[in-house]
Amino acid sequence: MFSKILVANRGEIALRIIRACKELGINTVAVFSKEDENSLPVHFADEAICIGPREPTKSYLNIPQIVSAAEVAGAEAIHPGYGFLAENEQFAEICRSSGINFIGPPHEVIKKLGNKVEARNILSKVGIPVIPGSKEVIKDKAEAKRAASHIGYPLVLKASLGGGGRGMRVVKEEKNLDLMFDLAQQEAKASFGEADLYIEKYLSKARHIEFQILADEYGNVFHFGERNCSIQRRYQKLIEESPSLALDGSLRKKMGDVAVKVAKILDYKGAGTVEFLLNDNRDFYFIEMNTRLQVEHPVTEMVTGKDLVKDQIRIAAGEELLYSQKDIKIQGFSMECRINAEDPDKNFTSSPGKITTFHLPGGPGVRVDTHIFNGCHVSPSYDSLLAKLITWGEDRNEAIVRMKRALEEFVIEGVKTTIPFHQMIIEDEHFIRGAFYIDFVEEKLRKKAGLEGKQ
Ligand code: ADP
Repeated sequence: MFSKILVANRGEIALRIIRACKELGINTVAVFSKEDENSLPVHFADEAICIGPREPTKSYLNIPQIVSAAEVAGAEAIHPGYGFLAENEQFAEICRSSGINFIGPPHEVIKKLGNKVEARNILSKVGIPVIPGSKEVIKDKAEAKRAASHIGYPLVLKASLGGGGRGMRVVKEEKNLDLMFDLAQQEAKASFGEADLYIEKYLSKARHIEFQILADEYGNVFHFGERNCSIQRRYQKLIEESPSLALDGSLRKKMGDVAVKVAKILDYKGAGTVEFLLNDNRDFYFIEMNTRLQVEHPVTEMVTGKDLVKDQIRIAAGEELLYSQKDIKIQGFSMECRINAEDPDKNFTSSPGKITTFHLPGGPGVRVDTHIFNGCHVSPSYDSLLAKLITWGEDRNEAIVRMKRALEEFVIEGVKTTIPFHQMIIEDEHFIRGAFYIDFVEEKLRKKAGLEGKQ
């Protein structure tokens, strides 16, 4: 096992990783930007090294600074968390060539999965269902028009190197294709440095269902059940839950087996998530595999009783997972609300500032992963996640009722938050029945704004 790990991230996930390390008896090194000097990860890590100013490109994305910090501190491994450098194949490769263990899959695997067109092609060849769409990068609008006439409308333009919903545009009719193509290309170029796009058929009335995977070096690949992440706005998840009411035992087994097969085909190592869209006919299609820990991993931990971060570290240290698929049992229901510093009444604009009051909910079945404390500053330079509020219940109703209670107990003053938005969603009768799809939030917000039926 490692004796020292550097955590190349900030916020709640840095804290989550430090906690796992402490329980494993591993010393931790936090790296931080000047802006995060007084943050909890800096406080709780055994050592902390400043890696640059506020701007992410000069600190949390600054590969030479982070690798040097690991070398100076004598860290044997780097945990990248999620976001920032977590899916950066170059970073993973540089860590390896510097003799530092990157806690994640090999860089070759990150590369393959980072290119979504390539991943779709590799997997569809071995019989994994992918959403009907283009097999190649679409070079220009004329090519897009030709491909669209085969695929049919509505369709989605997606960035081949995409992530976080950027470079993605839904096109309902041909007359919008040219404009959307330009917009998607511009966004892809700005976000990922490459404008490459591909096309998928747009699936309406679909659910986002993803499977958590762990794979070790000894050929063990297990799944930890699914998460339903269909409560999204602008392709960003807001509420996630596990298990999903849309799956019964046989569909769970079928999809879980496919997720494990995806990981095996790609010779995957570590923690990963295989994402699918599932329709009402129980047809499901691979959309992508994320090569890192997900924001929403706690709901899986709550229903399986496993500590995914500790297992992820054990795998990176070369240990074998000493359990089998049948030992992974799903018990009860769990749900996570992402509490962001955003104003839901002002189109979710970010709301940075000083936290003047912070009171955490608690009691049975409540877990909060947060880096926020009374008096801290929420910086506009980083993502707006303040806290992940997670509840567990013996059944889904209890998880919802606990969420309702916990949202009421949660007091955050000084910035606007998405708490009122979550309160509205969990009171919705469709949500309570589990009758919701990926377009649920946008439709609900349109109705709320009195724009029903308008585009
Ligand atoms: P990213 O990597 O940018 O997050 P994904 O491919 O994972 O992009 O898709 C993000 C979300 O976009 C999905 O969860 C789903 O809500 C929506 N989406 C993606 N592809 C499709 C599709 N073909 N049809 C309908 N919705 C889609």
